[in-house]
Amino acid sequence: MNRFEHLARAKKEIFDVCIIGGGITGAGVLANAMERGWNAILIDKGDFASGTSSRSSKMVHGGLRYLRNLQFGMVHEALKERGHILNQFPHLVKPVPFLLPSYGSSIDLWIKDVVLSVYDRLAGKSKIPPHVRLTANEVQQKLPGIDNKNLKGGILYYDAWTNDARLTLDVISESLQNGASAINYLEVKAFDVKNDAVQSIKCLDTITEEEISIRAKVFINATGVWTDVVLQRLTGKTCTTLQPSKGIHVVIPSDRLPKDCVAIVASATDDKRFLYTLPWEHGLTILGATDTDYKGKEDDVLTDMNDVQYVLDSFNAGFPDANLTVKDVVSVFAGLRPMLKVEDDKGAYGRSREYSIWWNKQNLLTIAGGKLTSFLSMGKNCMNLVEERFKASSAKKATSNKYKGHWSSIYGEFGKFVEDIIGENPEHASLIDPKYDYTETEIIFFCRYQFAQHLSDMLTRRTSITYAMKEYDEQLLNKLASLMASELNQTEAWKEEQKRNYRQHWLEYHPSFLSNN
Ligand SMILES: Cc1cc2nc3c(=O)[nH]c(=O)nc-3n(C[C@H](O)[C@H](O)[C@H](O)COP(=O)(O)OP(=O)(O)OC[C@H]3O[C@@H](n4cnc5c(N)ncnc54)[C@H](O)[C@@H]3O)c2cc1C
Repeated sequence: MNRFEHLARAKKEIFDVCIIGGGITGAGVLANAMERGWNAILIDKGDFASGTSSRSSKMVHGGLRYLRNLQFGMVHEALKERGHILNQFPHLVKPVPFLLPSYGSSIDLWIKDVVLSVYDRLAGKSKIPPHVRLTANEVQQKLPGIDNKNLKGGILYYDAWTNDARLTLDVISESLQNGASAINYLEVKAFDVKNDAVQSIKCLDTITEEEISIRAKVFINATGVWTDVVLQRLTGKTCTTLQPSKGIHVVIPSDRLPKDCVAIVASATDDKRFLYTLPWEHGLTILGATDTDYKGKEDDVLTDMNDVQYVLDSFNAGFPDANLTVKDVVSVFAGLRPMLKVEDDKGAYGRSREYSIWWNKQNLLTIAGGKLTSFLSMGKNCMNLVEERFKASSAKKATSNKYKGHWSSIYGEFGKFVEDIIGENPEHASLIDPKYDYTETEIIFFCRYQFAQHLSDMLTRRTSITYAMKEYDEQLLNKLASLMASELNQTEAWKEEQKRNYRQHWLEYHPSFLSNN
C-alpha cells in the first residue's frame, strides 16, 4: 500500500487507536497495539524518526550511569528490554564492547567493578557476556593512545548498539505487514472534542497541503519533545510537562581514535560526566554526547561551535596525542531528550530518564519521557492502560514473517522485498556510488516499503549518507533524485525542489563554521 492508499484509508475508517508521533515511542505503541489485534494508525508531522529517534547515541543499554542515582528499577527494565531487542532485531542491534578506564586510587577501580557486577546482575540471563576487570596494560592495548597518567586499569563490559532511525522504521514497517496504517508528513493541527472525548483530529498533509480528519476510539499522543505543543493544541493552554535537554554528536573518520571497543572518556569540564566513541557506518565514529538545558523551539535545535569544541576537548584530554580539530569533523547532529519536568531538578545530566503515561481526556492518552531502549515496555504499558478502558473492534493477532535469505542480515524479514525487487530488474543490483555500500534496489525498497518521500528521508534516515558526505555531492543527488522520482511518479520540477530542500537539510549536519575554522 502506498502513501495515497494509506491516506484514502485514513479518511474512510474509524480506527481503534490513532497514534500521533512516529518516533520510537509511537512505533512501540503501534507494534504492541498490532500484537493485541487492534486496528491502528500512526501519523507523524515529518518523516518517521526525524525527531529525537534519529539523533540519539544509538545505544541499547541499561544506562550504567543511572545506577549512580540509584535508579535500579529503570536500569533493570532497560536491561531486560536490551535482551528482548537483541533477540527481536538481530540484524539491527549488535552487542558492542565498552571500556571504562579507571584513574587514581585502586578504590575507584574496585567501585567500578562492584557497580558492573550489579549491572550484570540486573541484566539477568543474557546473550551478553559479563564484565571483566583489566590491568592498566590491558587497557592500553585495547585503547592505544589513551591517557595513561595514573591509569589504574579498567572495566570491559558489553552493551548493545543500533541504528535508531532504521530500528524505528523497521518496527513501523513490521506493523504494516500486520495490517496497520502509517502516514508520514501528516501534522495534527487541532482536536475535535465533545463531552470530554476526542471525536477526531484535524491534520494537514504537508506534501499535498490537503486537510484531513482522522477518527478513532482512542488517541495516543507520543510526540516526544513536542508533547506540550500538541497538548496546547488540545487544551488551548500553555503546558509545561517536559524539560528537554540538548545533546550533540560529532562524527569523525574511525581511524582517528581506537575503534575495537567503545572508549569512555570523562568530560573536559566535569569528570563525573562521560562521553563515548561509538562505531558507525561508512568508516565513521560518532563522539558524544553533550547534555545541556534547552529552552528554544523544538524544531530549531542546532549544533554550535562551542558544543563541538567541548566534545573535541574531552576526547583530546582522554587521548592526549589525538589532536582532534574541527578539520577532522565529517558531520555533526543535535537532538533533544524528551525529559519530564520534576520538582527537585538535578540539572540536565542528572535529570531522570523515566517515562510517564497519563490520560488527558476520556480517550486521549499521553506517553512521554523514557529512552530508545525502553520502547517495547513503553508500548506495552501504554496499551495496558488503553485496554483497561476500551476494547478492540476485532482482535486479529499479529503474525511474524520469517525470511532467512541473503538480505536478512541487513533487512531482517524485509530482505524478501529487496530480493523481489532485484528479481524484477537485476540491473538495479548495482551500487548507487562506489563510496557507499547501497544498491539502487535498496533505494527502491526504501521508497516502496519504508515510506521515503524526500531526499532527506533517503540520505539521512534510510541510508546514513548525509553523515558521511563531507563535501556536498551534486552528482549523487542527481542520481538519487532521479531514482526516487521514477519510483514515486514525480516530475523534473519535483527533483529540483528536492535538491534545493536537501541542501538546507545537509547544512544542518555540515554547518558553515566547520569549514570556516
Ligand atoms: C543526544 C541524545 C542521546 C541519546 N542517547 C540514547 C541512547 O544511547 N540510548 C537510549 O536508549 N536513548 C537515548 N536517547 C533518548 C532517546 O533517543 C529518546 O528517548 C527517544 O528517541 C524519544 O523517542 P520519541 O518517539 O518519544 O520522540 P521522537 O523521536 O522525537 O518522536 C516524536 C515524533 O512526534 C512527531 N510529532 C510532533 N508533533 C506532531 C504533530 N503535531 N503531529 C504529528 N506528529 C508530531 C515528531 O515529528 C516526531 O517524529 C538519547 C537522546 C538524545 C537527545
